[in-house]
Amino acid sequence: MTIINPDHRSTGLPSTGGLAERDSALPWCERCSTDEFLIYEDFVPARVSSEGRDLIPASVSYSCSVCGSFNGHQVPPMWSPPHWFWYS
Ligand SMILES: [Zn+2]
Repeated sequence: MTIINPDHRSTGLPSTGGLAERDSALPWCERCSTDEFLIYEDFVPARVSSEGRDLIPASVSYSCSVCGSFNGHQVPPMWSPPHWFWYS
């Protein structure tokens, strides 16, 4: 059996309370500590599933033009990449 010791948690990784927020965080290059040089590869806006019951969160994938790191994750529903335009 595992006993979760609060004191032990504080010595290691950040609290898991922020984990859910990170899943829908804004694009960001952690290596450069900026979003200034990100190149957006793909963006899928929030949408309703084929069954029409569930809302699938928006997601984006991007790379950093400075350090070359690639990232992709969910983003908040109201967010879209800067200068993004829609094909109509
Ligand atoms: Zn970078």
